[in-house]
Amino acid sequence: MQKTKRLSRRITLSFLLLGAALTLLLGLSLVIALKVIEANILDDILYAELKQFQQTDNPQKSGSLQSRSTITIHVSLPDAMNSIPGYLRTLPRGIHDVTHNKRDYRVLVEYIGDTRYIIEFDDTSIHKRERDFIHLVELCSLVALLIAFIFGRKVAHYVISPIRRLAYQVMAFKNQPGESLDLSEFGDDEIGVLTRKLQQYHEQLQQLLIREKEFASNVSHELRTPVTSISMAAEVLATKADLSSQEYERIQRIQRAAGEMSELIETFLVLAQINDEPTHGASCEMGPVARKVIEQQRVWLGNKPIEVVLEENGQLVVAAPSGILSVLVANLIRNAFRYTERGTVTVLLAPGHLTVTDTGIGIDTAVQAQIFKGYTVKSSGNTNRAGLGLSIVQRICERYGWTVSFDSTKGQGSRFTVVFTA
Ligand code: ADP
Repeated sequence: MQKTKRLSRRITLSFLLLGAALTLLLGLSLVIALKVIEANILDDILYAELKQFQQTDNPQKSGSLQSRSTITIHVSLPDAMNSIPGYLRTLPRGIHDVTHNKRDYRVLVEYIGDTRYIIEFDDTSIHKRERDFIHLVELCSLVALLIAFIFGRKVAHYVISPIRRLAYQVMAFKNQPGESLDLSEFGDDEIGVLTRKLQQYHEQLQQLLIREKEFASNVSHELRTPVTSISMAAEVLATKADLSSQEYERIQRIQRAAGEMSELIETFLVLAQINDEPTHGASCEMGPVARKVIEQQRVWLGNKPIEVVLEENGQLVVAAPSGILSVLVANLIRNAFRYTERGTVTVLLAPGHLTVTDTGIGIDTAVQAQIFKGYTVKSSGNTNRAGLGLSIVQRICERYGWTVSFDSTKGQGSRFTVVFTA
């Protein structure tokens, strides 16, 4: 469920980022607006104060006058610069922010004629209130962020929960017939549409699998009788006393071909079966199966100087029908017999696994990567031939949760191992 977790985290993060951006924007706008308004009002007050002072008092001498509790007016005629406090004396014309003795002042410096006017507004308490206000904005931003986080999580949960339910259902699928999604859990929204479509595809796939299985069973079934007839007829023919060696050789070829065909039919049946749910309860001892398969496949050895060894290190019992196990082991043993010219083929059975080792031609490194994919090879006759055996082995192993692996060295031999995990 890692994916949906990441999805809900992304939604929460988006809300958090949006919340942060909005509160930052709002907070900054408020503080800037406050500063601008404050400066404008103070400047208006300073100019108004200067105008009123000029009109009503019309000063003729230098000095300082406390106009209101927060405003002090300093006047200096050209010859009396020293009457102005030192921290204001050098200020040029215009409006300034000055800090003196830990107090803040907004100061207007103006010349009318030769007389210099300095209007000083003590805005320390305004600045203090301003700082309090900024702290309040910061606190509100934090609360807004917290709300954005909680809201984001709730929305993420709300939006993601149908996706999560769908993901759980899809993950619970075991590719078995009859499985279906529980559509009642989903409404008419996009997820509902997606779920119904998924269910449709799933049903189509199931139908296809059923048809494939039926086809394989029907074909195998229909082919069994004629192949058995051919085998039996060839057997009867082979017992005739007056056969020439050429005729006997031909009849043997017919028998071999009929044998291969019935093996193929078995394989088709197994392929149809492996689409079914693995049969629980059915278990089979591998020893007798391996012995039977080795005998059946001996025809591939011909006259090659090969020793076949069956080693049994304890009893190997596997939870699967014997038909399936025969096909699995037959493909490995047949390959070992076919691709070995001399030496030994060893079939080892041990609790939990089997290995088939040969001293044959080994497998090309280029071919190794594709060996289980049912790849196509060029045979000596220049015709394309699909290698199906190992892909069937792989399919059986996948179906039952077993693993098949191999190692092989060109010119030295190969070893195939199947581990039967319970
Ligand atoms: P097929 O044997 O019908 O071609 P498989 O799927 O059984 O199909 O094998 C695929 C290919 O893997 C073979 O064509 C062969 O080249 C190689 N291969 C399989 N088993 C062995 C082996 N024991 N030794 C050498 N090559 C092998």
